[in-house]
Amino acid sequence: MENLYCLRCNRELEAGRKSVAMYMFAQTVGIRPRQKSAAQRICFCPQCSVSLAMGPPPEGALNVAAWNMIRELVGSDPALNQAAWENLRGVVGLLPATGTDGVPRRASGEGYFEF
Ligand SMILES: [Zn+2]
Repeated sequence: MENLYCLRCNRELEAGRKSVAMYMFAQTVGIRPRQKSAAQRICFCPQCSVSLAMGPPPEGALNVAAWNMIRELVGSDPALNQAAWENLRGVVGLLPATGTDGVPRRASGEGYFEF
């Protein structure tokens, strides 16, 4: 399975990582033969999902439709906020403490953000 990337911040989202996925496809209506496009999968990491939901409505009817769906998810349960919060804590943990030798700790390989 291919790795996916957050549409907003380009963060890599491995399979099974907490994220919000949107599926979109188009199909003809009232036209024979009926045609249906392949489904596109669009992903957002938890931080971007929460940030988008809290932010002002975007421009464009499609964007507003997607924004409303994300807002519904973020607003209906705190689990997504929690996931974003956990990710932020992980990023803070990567920063070197002030007054140390200044050698930043690197995230060694994948899995640092696993919960
Ligand atoms: Zn993101």
